[in-house]
Amino acid sequence: MEYVSTRGGAPELDFRATMFAGLAPDGGLYVPKTIPRLKQKTIAALAGQSFEDIALRVITPFIGDSFSEETLRRCIQDAYDKFDHPARAPLVQIGQNHWLLELFHGPTLAFKDFAMQLIAQLFRVALRDRQQQIMVIGATSGDTGSAAIEAFRGIENTEVFVLFPHGRISDIQRLQMTTPSEKNVHALAVDGDFDDCQALVKAMFNDRKFRNEMRLVAMNSINWARILVQIVYYFSSAVRIGAPHRTLSYAVPTGNFGDIFAGFIAKSMGLPIKKLVVATNQNDILHRCLTGQGYFRGETRPSISPSMDIQVASNFERALYYAYGCSGSAIAELMDLFSQRGVEIDETALDSLVGVYGSGRVSEDETRATISKYQRKTGELLCPHSAIGVRVGEQWQERSVPMISLATAHPAKFVEAVEDSSGQCPTLPSRIADLHTRTERVCRVKNDLTEIQNYIRSIRDK
Ligand SMILES: *Cc1c(COP(=O)(O)O)cnc(C)c1O
Repeated sequence: MEYVSTRGGAPELDFRATMFAGLAPDGGLYVPKTIPRLKQKTIAALAGQSFEDIALRVITPFIGDSFSEETLRRCIQDAYDKFDHPARAPLVQIGQNHWLLELFHGPTLAFKDFAMQLIAQLFRVALRDRQQQIMVIGATSGDTGSAAIEAFRGIENTEVFVLFPHGRISDIQRLQMTTPSEKNVHALAVDGDFDDCQALVKAMFNDRKFRNEMRLVAMNSINWARILVQIVYYFSSAVRIGAPHRTLSYAVPTGNFGDIFAGFIAKSMGLPIKKLVVATNQNDILHRCLTGQGYFRGETRPSISPSMDIQVASNFERALYYAYGCSGSAIAELMDLFSQRGVEIDETALDSLVGVYGSGRVSEDETRATISKYQRKTGELLCPHSAIGVRVGEQWQERSVPMISLATAHPAKFVEAVEDSSGQCPTLPSRIADLHTRTERVCRVKNDLTEIQNYIRSIRDK
């Protein structure tokens, strides 16, 4: 299986190389050259299988000979062993023909564990084969960083560095990053905001000499391997409620467009998905785009669903690539225009997008009201992100088509908003109930590229 850049100007890579590369050298994102299709009878046969077996079946066609089946099977086993629920991604009914797909039973209580846990295992194998050390680097507004640290803690041949804005993430998110005691974990509290952290990481990757010398690897959602792993729970949930003999829709709380794009790949592989519905908070660039108002960025406004507070959804480039008929040159031109201010989307491309994706925007008040409503109606406590998905799922629900809304984080990760809205205080799973009493280890740094580069170098040279 070969991967190509969405901007058409980078060499093709195999799966392993794609995993190490992150961003393509022409600035584009890697996508599979062709999307493998599963036969209807293969999909039907997934019903009743374990999450791990479904993962193996769904991921294998994308891996080529980068990993043997035996290795992949073992990595999948090791990755999901740490989840609290035997189903890994259980479905809960919350309304007439409306289901909630709980993706928060992993170690850091957000869906990002699904991909990060497995990728860390794949890196462990690949680095052992190469006899090489890498520096895993990322900026986080909360969930990505904790998932990366949790997945890479103690993995040989890796050092993991996560930059987060000092004082601007939730207590639980911080504690999840600062309490692991493994020596390869480095939580860096930056004097600045999330955009500063992201700019620092970007600058390190653009410093070609530093990047090659340190063997930096990016852990953000532009990494194809993360998308790939997220395809699995679309299949596992769909066959639970009757696919491939039934068509269904998904509502997905969306930020960087990674999770929902995995749904697009599942659909392209043959899963009968009618609509993939993008659910946004007040930072609604994607909703505006999908309702024909062009792709123009605005100001980011902080919300109670911080993991969706974005203006540029990096993975949307992948969706645009397919909407523009897989034309790398069209995407290169489009993204260049977008970086200046914004772009209008061609009519045919917009038709193609709207055929696949629906969208909806949920205000802060509506988010709170939805949390409260479902707590009363079903007893299910929704985190603010999940509530946005559920609200938009309601709006797009059709009588005869089941709707699955993705629950992307555990309510206890966003205690304040959930308690404010529902009057009920969500509790942490017992496994991490003592999080607040564990010893923290954090490195406070200035918003200064050289200082941070020197720190990383000093760790490499130790
Ligand atoms: C990351 C995240 C999202 C957004 O997912 P994308 O793949 O970036 O669209 C939504 N909810 C939660 C809780 C998250 O952590």
